[in-house]
Amino acid sequence: MNFLKPDTQAFSIWLNSFMNCLRFSSQHNDTTISLILEHKHLNIQAMLPTFSYKTIIEHQNFFKSLYPCAGGNYFHKLSEFFYDLEHEPSTFFQSPIISSNFANISTPFNKHDENILLKTKKLTIASIFETRKIDEKVLFLPCIKSDLSNIIRDVSLINKLSKLVESTKTAFPRDCVFSMKRAKQLLIPIGTVFLKNKSVFSLHFKLIHINKNSCELPALKSRVSDKLYIPDKEMLSMSLKKIFSMPIILYYKNFILEQMNRTLNSKNKLYKFKLTDSNLCSKCNIISSTEHALYFCVFPTYFIHKLALFLDYVLNDSKPEFIFLKENFYLYNMFYEGFSNDFYLQLSHLILVAKDRSLKISVEDDFIKWDDNNFYAHSILLSQFTCKLLHNAGLNNNIIYDFINFISN
Ligand SMILES: [Zn+2]
Repeated sequence: MNFLKPDTQAFSIWLNSFMNCLRFSSQHNDTTISLILEHKHLNIQAMLPTFSYKTIIEHQNFFKSLYPCAGGNYFHKLSEFFYDLEHEPSTFFQSPIISSNFANISTPFNKHDENILLKTKKLTIASIFETRKIDEKVLFLPCIKSDLSNIIRDVSLINKLSKLVESTKTAFPRDCVFSMKRAKQLLIPIGTVFLKNKSVFSLHFKLIHINKNSCELPALKSRVSDKLYIPDKEMLSMSLKKIFSMPIILYYKNFILEQMNRTLNSKNKLYKFKLTDSNLCSKCNIISSTEHALYFCVFPTYFIHKLALFLDYVLNDSKPEFIFLKENFYLYNMFYEGFSNDFYLQLSHLILVAKDRSLKISVEDDFIKWDDNNFYAHSILLSQFTCKLLHNAGLNNNIIYDFINFISN
């Protein structure tokens, strides 16, 4: 799930308070921190606009001395956050030249370099990369601006900037095309944005945290190009995490993993490998893809309808809800609030057994002869099999028994 856990939430609040404390002291010379900063000859006004990874590393001993217990591990987390911020594709280009982790080059920038960069308004790394204008967009290239030596007439500084560009190589984002407006914003370091927008750092911390923990559906692009239904990603991610953490028989965990990765052997795939004579479903006479075999074909359609009726019967007093959510709860095994963990465990087994059987049936020769009686008998059979499977694994199977009774009556 994407929400912040208590320790992460606490750090996000601490980060906001730490940065705003520094900002406040930079604006008010009479605060205690301002006096301490002055005593230590630390010019916070000059430091804040380009505050980043190196600022923390260089001054961490002083910052730690302001906090009881040296701030615990918060300053370590803070340096990690700034490192991530400078590596995040959306904020990479706003990394300040002199104080980002990329500035750890063999010959460090000095005060003189800093003044030149300030005068020529070269503050972020976006300002020293070569760019190309494409229509109304700006493309950044992973090499130094060719005309930079016309603006900065200091060979030693140009050499340092070339080294810095070199050091960004592995972090240079793939997505480097921006609108003109965004490209202009990239010339302003986030530290400078922070002077006007108090919460910008904690906002980026939350965004980085969400990106780090988000679970992308595998084979998403091929699903989009095949025009397949894609469920709510957050709900799916939560459901998959739940399934993989439950005591589901390994064979079926592997099955759902293969389904998500789109590596199950459908009749269509077997045909492509020349292992069957036809790629058509013998019942429906259309291409028997994995989705067809698991969900759209005649047998799964029959079984899923019964199961949706059963779910609405036991969970919704027969009011229709799951009947409209077949792709979610069945094809993608998604978790719904009405399910208890035990219910979801039993239901997931039943669905995975049914999907596994449906896929096998789709390639069997006698599938063409199947009628409603076979569908009914097979639904009972695979449900009884699920009951046995659950029983042998020492799990409850009462819900599957209820389902068998439901479809038998
Ligand atoms: Zn079919």
